[in-house]
Amino acid sequence: MNKILIVEDEESIAELEKDYLELSNFTVTVENTGSRGLDRALKEDFDLIILDLMLPDVDGFEICRQIREVRNTPVMVISAKKDDIDKIRALGLGADDYITKPFSPSEMVARVKAHLSRYERLTAGLTPVNDIIEIRGLKIDKTARRVWVNGEEKSLTTKEFDILAFLAQNPNHVYSKEDLFREIWEMDSVGDIATVTVHIKKIREKIEYNTSNPQYIETIWGVGYRFKV
Ligand code: CA
Repeated sequence: MNKILIVEDEESIAELEKDYLELSNFTVTVENTGSRGLDRALKEDFDLIILDLMLPDVDGFEICRQIREVRNTPVMVISAKKDDIDKIRALGLGADDYITKPFSPSEMVARVKAHLSRYERLTAGLTPVNDIIEIRGLKIDKTARRVWVNGEEKSLTTKEFDILAFLAQNPNHVYSKEDLFREIWEMDSVGDIATVTVHIKKIREKIEYNTSNPQYIETIWGVGYRFKV
């Protein structure tokens, strides 16, 4: 059941909005002042907020601004203000829609439904999925920063992990030690590129079955390293 908050000081309009939304099976809460509406919008979980602009005490613009500092709840402005400047300001503050009074209650309900389904699609897409690379028994979870070889977890240091993940996500690409040094240590200097060699050696000891015949990170003599696919 979707919960909707209406912040509207004109009781007849609030009632009209509430009636139509309840007919569509929404659970509706009405607040008639800006301060009470703002307080509930910030403290409670609503699925959508219908907001008037001209309100006693705190106006709708300020309510919208404060909601957007902490929440992504869809906000639909329904206002008697018809000027583009007000619409632009409300949308700029993060309102998702703007309807001018007088309005068609059926259209309002249709828009509420459209915003709710759009928001649900968006948030469904935000379900965290780990970024994983899997190549021939080697599994690299870039999100959790963990590495497995044939199901056995290996412990890599931060830089070892960074080098391995970088090479694995750019397979078949040869990188010189200088390239890797710049990429991983993020310093645009020659630095001590011997450290790259040391790290590659340690990575191989951890992930390769036979370090003298590496299956993952190949040495391209005189050039650099390549992740083999
Ligand atoms: Ca008003």
